[in-house]
Amino acid sequence: MKCRKCQNKASVHMRQHKLALCKEHYLEWVPEQTERFIKKYQMFTREEKILVAVSGGKDSLSLWDILMQLGYQADGLYLGLGIDGGIGYSHESQRLSEKFANEHNLKLHVVDIEKEYGQSIPMLAESSHRGYGKPCAVCGLAKRHEMNRIARDLGYDVLATGHNLDDEAAVLFGNTLSWASEYLLRQGPVLPEADGLARKVKPLCRFYEREMTAYALLSGIEYIYEECPFAEGSQSIFYKETLNQLETTRPGAKLTFYLKFLEARKSGELFIEKNVKQGLLHACPKCGQPTSTPDLCSFCRMVEKANVKTE
Ligand code: SF4
Ligand code: ZN
Repeated sequence: MKCRKCQNKASVHMRQHKLALCKEHYLEWVPEQTERFIKKYQMFTREEKILVAVSGGKDSLSLWDILMQLGYQADGLYLGLGIDGGIGYSHESQRLSEKFANEHNLKLHVVDIEKEYGQSIPMLAESSHRGYGKPCAVCGLAKRHEMNRIARDLGYDVLATGHNLDDEAAVLFGNTLSWASEYLLRQGPVLPEADGLARKVKPLCRFYEREMTAYALLSGIEYIYEECPFAEGSQSIFYKETLNQLETTRPGAKLTFYLKFLEARKSGELFIEKNVKQGLLHACPKCGQPTSTPDLCSFCRMVEKANVKTE
């Protein structure tokens, strides 16, 4: 197979786009496409300050790399979750995030949940009723809270995450199976800012996972290969595998599923728009973030409860 642009041997073949490219042209194509998506979905401008949520994985480090190449003002945020799982997961992912930042002379904010709140994610999960022994619900809540807090406190205009198409299609699939209207309405490449909530964007949402792996490998980005030890057996992995089976027989199915959803949502064709009730938001008396739960927000309540238990 030859590269469409130069006729050299192709390194990456994308069946769904009927496109094959050599290393050099692939490393140009990914940032060009990212720029196209940033513009198409009006994610941010070159004047805005971007905070990239960096996990040490291929997607977030590649995103940071691409934004830097495109000339955007992007700093990183690494959240220390305190997850070991026998492989020193958090430790290693922090090391690789810091290494990337140092090598490229980029600014990385490091926030350690345990230092900040006295409890790591596994500790918080143990004293919480959320998730039945798995820390993912607690982890998701903490990540959302902390990312928003830091983006807001440090004056960033927008928060960017490295979600790829496989992540987005899996979430969409899960939400569609249960017709979770409220979640469906909020899913997309951009979640606009609202009172006290930073704008959230996903510039890689149209790239397949394997495209991002190829980008990271061909760019020589050193990233953590291991998944978080708690990801194993999760529902989202099951949905990803199911969609991969579909993709094998119908190349492009994942992308079509996601793009057709965005089109239908934009055109107002989906019934979900009418049914969604927006909960009334007020500021959490402890952290000041908007919340619909009475009194403290869910995150502050969870931390308070966990600290009482361990006192
Ligand atoms: Fe957090 Fe790991 Fe669960 Fe992801 S898989 S939500 S990082 S605990
Ligand atoms: Zn709060």
